[in-house]
Amino acid sequence: MNELPNTPGTYALVFRNHTQRRIPVGALGEVVLMRGYYIYVGSAFGPGGLRARVGRHARIEKTKHWHIDYLRPHLSLIEAWYTSDPEKLEHRWAGLLERELSVAWPRFGASDCRCPAHLFYASTLPTGLLPDGHRCNPEVDPGISVVITSLVNLRPVIT
Ligand SMILES: [Zn+2]
Repeated sequence: MNELPNTPGTYALVFRNHTQRRIPVGALGEVVLMRGYYIYVGSAFGPGGLRARVGRHARIEKTKHWHIDYLRPHLSLIEAWYTSDPEKLEHRWAGLLERELSVAWPRFGASDCRCPAHLFYASTLPTGLLPDGHRCNPEVDPGISVVITSLVNLRPVIT
């Protein structure tokens, strides 16, 4: 699964949580993780691009740097979407997801911007929901590609 490019871009990760539980998230305090799906939006404009950044999110063991890192050990990464568009689209995508889904917690993943959050919740898997706001599939919208269909498939990307 070497489809993930090492070029810059924007991504959305779909996580699944199987059991409701409370998790301490750094300065945000304790949050309640609901059973269901969490969609996290970010961008990768550093070294290694999308491949390095999404690979980092896929790993469980790491220094906790971002809010999402605190939740990561409790979640399964089931899907990722990306675009290599040179424009940083994470805030736009967050705004689009906000229209379709629930904000997971105010300010989560959005300490440095004016978005309500960069993490969203859905009780059922939001299939067909693309972060550019269209409901369509990747064949129709080549700007966004499905990269990962399961954590097992993602692993080769990481190493
Ligand atoms: Zn933002």
